Amino acid sequence: MKKAIIIRCSEIHLKGKNRKHFEGLLEDNIKRALKNFNYKFVKVLGRYLIENFSEVDELDIISKLKKVSGIHTLSVASVVNSNYDDILDACINYTEFKKGTFKVETRRAYKEFPIESIELSRKIGGVLLSKNKDLTVDVHSPDFSVCIDIRDAHSTLVYVGVIKGMGGMPVGSAAKGMLMISGGIDSPVAGYMMAKRGMKLDAIHFHSYPYTGDAAKEKVITLTEKVGEYTGGINLHVVPFTEIQEAIHEKCPEEYMITMMRRFMMRISERVAKSVNALAIITGESLGQVASQTVESINSSNSVATIPVLRPLIAFDKIDIIEISEKIDTYETSILPYEDCCTVFLPKFPIIKPKLEKVIEFESVLDIENLIERAINGIEVIKL
Ligand code: ATP
Ligand code: MG
Repeated sequence: MKKAIIIRCSEIHLKGKNRKHFEGLLEDNIKRALKNFNYKFVKVLGRYLIENFSEVDELDIISKLKKVSGIHTLSVASVVNSNYDDILDACINYTEFKKGTFKVETRRAYKEFPIESIELSRKIGGVLLSKNKDLTVDVHSPDFSVCIDIRDAHSTLVYVGVIKGMGGMPVGSAAKGMLMISGGIDSPVAGYMMAKRGMKLDAIHFHSYPYTGDAAKEKVITLTEKVGEYTGGINLHVVPFTEIQEAIHEKCPEEYMITMMRRFMMRISERVAKSVNALAIITGESLGQVASQTVESINSSNSVATIPVLRPLIAFDKIDIIEISEKIDTYETSILPYEDCCTVFLPKFPIIKPKLEKVIEFESVLDIENLIERAINGIEVIKL
């Protein structure tokens, strides 16, 4: 039987010009996500249809579409001729082995169809009831709906059930952000959250070769690639961070190691962000999770930034972050046991509430500008 995938958009309260712009972006993003498949793209009022695809690709297409932000729900429908018998057959097929309460919902865009919507729903509902004794009708809150969408003289869509999409806004509808990605659980989730709100992303990672090895870098590449599935690809900037860490380790008080590192990371992230027209930095920080995530610590790193630093996970519990990381399939990679640059030279007692004046004083012994410049010159860009 011929099938079609129905795509419904989210945030449809958007009006006027904005809406056109968003729809255009969503359309481009859908086409990019499905670039490796053969199919026909059809635009109908407020929705899109994917038609004429090979049945073997159905599940792969669905899983790609579930990663396109701005899609609210999806349904897989049977496409039948617009005549009563064929529509009824499709409805019977869907309900033959089902149990519980249902209702039939008809939309009749093709007004020449000889039976009116309500009448058709009632008629087909009656037949379905008589064919399957495990079904009862509940028009208010049914377990499932059998939906009939009579589009034109030739084709009608029949489907049961909806698949939840990613929701949010189409990627590209908000500015670009620079995601600071570590090998941990949080930062990939933070990137996903901002992509969901329409941000295009670049990513930056600080690597402490040879203290952190190739496996640690590969892990970050894999994580970035997974986040990139939600943004239509991503450029990863890998920054050599060892020299900076060694300089801090040698010249600054041990308990300030992480505080100092964070300020360098932030400064470099901002410069790289500006060089690729990213208007914000994104981190996976969550309040109170570790010593460097107190408001005092955040203030210390934030104060060297001049562009907004977005922290979508700031008020999340770890357990909720883990749930999202499992959903977006980054968790298993994130928990692989490779060192992170922040575990190199880790102080025994990191300062929990650093005072900004102290931080600035301790930092003043370093040749900040030179260190930053050399790190930036050593950046490797990986297109994922
Ligand atoms: P994550 O789970 O994302 O690693 P975390 O709970 O380990 O976060 P921290 O180590 O304090 O927390 O890092 C806070 C944030 O700083 C990270 O979420 C990430 O955005 C950024 N960050 C940390 N290490 C790096 C790194 N090596 N490269 C780029 N960004 C980093
Ligand atoms: Mg970490």
